[in-house]
Amino acid sequence: MPTETFEFQVEARQLLQLMIHSVYSNKDVFLRELVSNASDALDKLRLAALRDDTLDADVSDLHIELEIDRDARTLTVRDNGIGMSYDEVGQLIGTIANSGTAEFLRELKEAQDAAGAEGLIGQFGVGFYSGFMVADEVTLLTRRAGEPQGTRWSSRGEGTYTLERVDDAPQGTSVVLHLKPADPDNQLHDYTSVWKVKEIVKRYSDFITWPVRLVGEKDGDGGAAEPETLNSMKALWARSREEVSEEEYHELYKHIGHDWREPLETIQLQAEGTFEYQALLFVPAHAPHDLFSQNFRHGLQLYVKRVFIMDDCEALLPPYLRFVKGVVDAQDLSLNVSREILQQDRHIRMMQRRLTKKVLASVKSMLTGDAERYATFWREFGAVLKEGLVTDPDNRDALLAVASFATTRGDGETVTLKQYVERMPDGQDDIYYITGESRESVESSPHMEAFRERGVEVLLLTDPVDEVWTDAVGEFEGKRLRSVAKGEIDLAAREDDRGEGEREKQAEAYAGLLGWMRERLAEDVKEVRLSTRLTVSPACLVADANDLSPALESMYRAMGQEVPHARRILELNPDHALVKSLNEAYGEREDHAELTETAELLHSLAVLAEGGRPKDPARFVQQMANRLERTL
Ligand code: ADP
Repeated sequence: MPTETFEFQVEARQLLQLMIHSVYSNKDVFLRELVSNASDALDKLRLAALRDDTLDADVSDLHIELEIDRDARTLTVRDNGIGMSYDEVGQLIGTIANSGTAEFLRELKEAQDAAGAEGLIGQFGVGFYSGFMVADEVTLLTRRAGEPQGTRWSSRGEGTYTLERVDDAPQGTSVVLHLKPADPDNQLHDYTSVWKVKEIVKRYSDFITWPVRLVGEKDGDGGAAEPETLNSMKALWARSREEVSEEEYHELYKHIGHDWREPLETIQLQAEGTFEYQALLFVPAHAPHDLFSQNFRHGLQLYVKRVFIMDDCEALLPPYLRFVKGVVDAQDLSLNVSREILQQDRHIRMMQRRLTKKVLASVKSMLTGDAERYATFWREFGAVLKEGLVTDPDNRDALLAVASFATTRGDGETVTLKQYVERMPDGQDDIYYITGESRESVESSPHMEAFRERGVEVLLLTDPVDEVWTDAVGEFEGKRLRSVAKGEIDLAAREDDRGEGEREKQAEAYAGLLGWMRERLAEDVKEVRLSTRLTVSPACLVADANDLSPALESMYRAMGQEVPHARRILELNPDHALVKSLNEAYGEREDHAELTETAELLHSLAVLAEGGRPKDPARFVQQMANRLERTL
């Protein structure tokens, strides 16, 4: 049958180059990747056979075989799993479907040192290609279960691969690594060594639920011997914590989490009683790059009585815990259970509730027991967890207890709401926060002026979800959550504050101007009033306590929802020279066109100061230019 030659897709080629010139120092892991793929293929076949009893496949002895041929310097990883069709081989092996790969490659170029590169590779998982770290040629022979014909794929990793249809291929996949020449200085990394192969399997793949057998070459005398099973196949989640080493847990995490780094936290749960199950959950140490993408695949692995049922089982955890990886093994579910059924199953909902509480409890213990670990957790996953404040009212208190926020107090430390309330000075009744796009922009917002001057602590909230949960939550331990950009601000009185009488006089002096401006700017603002927020800026815009913030308004619009445009309140700083002069000019009834323009300019400046954009930028620029010209 003809052999066809194909080019690797660009990204695939780049990745292969990286493997060949191996940036990764621990080459041993190639075997874990191949065994892991084989194990997945066996899981898939087992499942396919369960679902479709007409499938023409042999599932009587599913296993993985490793075969060493010292003379030929090959190592073969063979499975009798699901296999791949001709088209699948081209798609799955010749290209990189993962959309994050381009980003990965860019980041990798930027990562100067090898350690950075290793970390990145771990994050993206390069699977099959890692074989090219140790082999200069890889051949793969595969036949999809139920199909008559097989496929041979072969490549030296240099830009092209060949595909060929094969008539007599066994069901499943075998990957033959033509190992690079032996390095006499580095015997430790000779993958034709039985000892070495055994050691790697034991270390990385012991928990694989299928037997990994070593066949062929045994202990150096070349004689054929009985196949030997190298792994214990023990399900770690079913064993007590004392029996399992930290390292074993970590290897399982790496297998199911497609991560080469250690997890931040390991969580075990064994539920007994009428609905029995075991769970082993992991919190990664790093947020995946696509955590906020629509297509982010999340969920736990579901097993039923040690049999793998499905990946990415979303029903087991709420979306705001989508970063958690792990395994759940239930005793009393049907092996045929489908995703649709799971979504509605009462037991699954109970499991979800329990697992959620367990994860939140572990975050709590990080917070109280290990500040550094908690800080890492919150940096990586805080923005996701806060979604739960909106979507999961049942766990709102638990979430509020573990949430922390950037603050105007201290340098770079975060504060929990509890800590904030504890250190609130006498006379302060509310928890103040500001929302915005970045720390810089909120810190310099005019809304912060009075708070800064009086040293009132303000939480700096810069995740998009902050706009939403603050509204939904409303209060904490009886203290209102208040945006510094909303409503009237009534900060505790100070000695040097104006007296009541003086304030009344000021209000009287400005009454005319305020009324007149409200008319002039009626299209954009619903009220003009004197501010207690401002110390430096002439004006700012605020919302009524119940209005949508501008950010929330545009968020709803972006989601295609109709929301009315909320007119806001313009606040003037009565102590600012510009505002004072405007009031005097208004009193003297000078040129009104000029006055109107000043009022409009003040409004535009307030919009700009909070990072917005004037309604008619061209007109604004024209007006400003005229004014500036007159100052020269
Ligand atoms: P990943 O395992 O991270 O998806 P790989 O490059 O290792 O990436 O593999 C790509 C795909 O090729 C797998 O998702 C799987 O569909 C298929 N594949 C790899 N190895 C096997 C195998 N031994 N049997 C069947 N399919 C396989």
